[in-house]
Amino acid sequence: MAKVAINLSTGSIQQEEIIVGIDLGTTNSLVAYIHPDGRHPVAINDQGRGTIVPSVVHFPGGGDTPIVGTDAKEYLLTEPQNTIYSVKRLLGKSYQDLGQHAQELGYKVIDDNSEGLVKIRVGDTFYSPIELSAEILKELRQRAEHALKTPVNKAVITVPAYFNDSQRQATRDAGRLAGLEVLRIVNEPTAAALAYGIGLSPDEEKTVAVYDLGGGTFDVSILRIQQGIFEVLSTNGDTYLGGDDLDRAIINHWTQQHQLAQAVAASGSLQQELRLLAEAAKRYLSQHEDFAANFNDVVLRLTKPEFNDLIRPLVERTITSCRQALADAKLTPADLDAVLLVGGSTRVPLVYDAVSEFFQQPANNSLNPDEVVALGAAIQADILGGNRRDVLLLDVTPLTLGIETLGGLMDPIIPRNSKIPTKAGRQYTTSVDGQVNLKISVYQGERDLVKENRKLAEFDLRGIPAMPAGLPKVDVNFILNADGILKVEAIELRSNTRQAVEIKPQYGLTDEQVEQMLMDSMTHAREDIAARMVIEARTVAEQMLYQVERFVAKNGQHLTPEETTQTHAGVEQLKAALTTQDKDTILKAVDELEELTRPFAERVMNISISQAMAGKKIE
Ligand code: AMP
Repeated sequence: MAKVAINLSTGSIQQEEIIVGIDLGTTNSLVAYIHPDGRHPVAINDQGRGTIVPSVVHFPGGGDTPIVGTDAKEYLLTEPQNTIYSVKRLLGKSYQDLGQHAQELGYKVIDDNSEGLVKIRVGDTFYSPIELSAEILKELRQRAEHALKTPVNKAVITVPAYFNDSQRQATRDAGRLAGLEVLRIVNEPTAAALAYGIGLSPDEEKTVAVYDLGGGTFDVSILRIQQGIFEVLSTNGDTYLGGDDLDRAIINHWTQQHQLAQAVAASGSLQQELRLLAEAAKRYLSQHEDFAANFNDVVLRLTKPEFNDLIRPLVERTITSCRQALADAKLTPADLDAVLLVGGSTRVPLVYDAVSEFFQQPANNSLNPDEVVALGAAIQADILGGNRRDVLLLDVTPLTLGIETLGGLMDPIIPRNSKIPTKAGRQYTTSVDGQVNLKISVYQGERDLVKENRKLAEFDLRGIPAMPAGLPKVDVNFILNADGILKVEAIELRSNTRQAVEIKPQYGLTDEQVEQMLMDSMTHAREDIAARMVIEARTVAEQMLYQVERFVAKNGQHLTPEETTQTHAGVEQLKAALTTQDKDTILKAVDELEELTRPFAERVMNISISQAMAGKKIE
């Protein structure tokens, strides 16, 4: 049934449901839609608050009702432990993936040293990056609903081209948790190209570079657009380089010039003031030749040439990435039809000049670089809504295809709405020592627990050589051909053991059933994701218990009797927590056991290092 909505602000009747485009950024996020009158994309500015929503979630007093955006940003310095920023960096990542970066965050990321997905602790509650991203998306959704005076239930969300499957899936889940049906996850450079009108006609063939320098990240992508298909030829960048580094270069310069280090180190508010002045100087110098401001009894000055000298090494690093991306795509600057600029930091004239010089053509910065990705997402949403008849719509798979993993969870391999033909895969391993068979169960559907989805097939990969748990490497590949036939193959890489099945996923499914499955996934989103989080917490806890018990058995002699008693108490507490179905209780016990045992583990490591060193001594 088609819905008809009346836009109360303009009185115009909208025939189709609004599908918004969302740029869920590391530093800032935006939502855009296609204005029904001019049919052009517009970034939504609710109540004159601007189009940009800082991607910051603050939990006042460590409670559980968050505030999001500019109001939340105010607490970054005063309540860092309750104020979560850059959550996009954590999406779909394990603690191990984060490495040393986990320590650089102002808030607490739970260190379970496992391959499970990271959790953030605020007070006594544990949040997944999916839940925190969902808070940002809810805020964007509310702003859109408020500004457009109509319910918003569907969205296209953008992600960096280098995001892997689990980061994309995490973004989809965040959307679902925010009450949004995510019609498609789109690459940010693809959205930027669409915003610049590239790739809108089916017979167009173009090759473009998209240079994206935001607040905290940098990436460059080379895209080839052919018959409505956007192919990422190469991507390069640095996920820890952005406008914040330009600010830091200015701060360091002023600090040295005026010997400010001591005064600033002693005062949080001076530190904040200096940071804001540095950012103001940077912005000012995009338009003017010199900057001056009073700060704590001195006058801070910066000319444009000085600024350029300070940031040249950083800009050079981005150009090195561009060179690499072009080489990886096996192209030269002359092969590019356009160079598009994305991200607020591309307003810096030196950046513009360096990029234009490297690519040997003037870069295109005619659209607002903060908005361009969201605008492109809105255009993609419009295409998926069927409002652009001139644009080719490719066949897509209507439901997610995936396999069952530990605890009965659905692990999506090919997300719904993927263009077909398509191929995707993931690597798995065994969970028990000496396991020689692996059961592969293939499911279709949007729910988090496989028992709620439709089972398509099941087979055993037999003959895996007996090895300790975690060592075998099993590649599972899904190949969905243009006729909608799915081939699932599993290969154990060490022994080259393989097994495959072919299935027709749509067989026996009516459109109404597909629709019902989608509806169910939206209405059960909360409980499904909660159930998934309990299962994930239990898996982390079980791994932790296994590790601690093994550690104590092996290194018990290095622990004092008191430490042994404490460790046993921690283990018992975690076992007791496991009898509950409460993820916060379980994760709190994991966190406490981790805090308790970490010093022992470090000490034992030091002992074994010094023993190894002693062994190497030349007598
Ligand atoms: P984004 O993550 O794309 O929103 O980029 C935000 C970054 O762009 C921040 O580091 C801002 O300081 C920077 N930025 C915004 N406007 C300007 C400007 N006029 N000149 C230089 N940098 C800017």
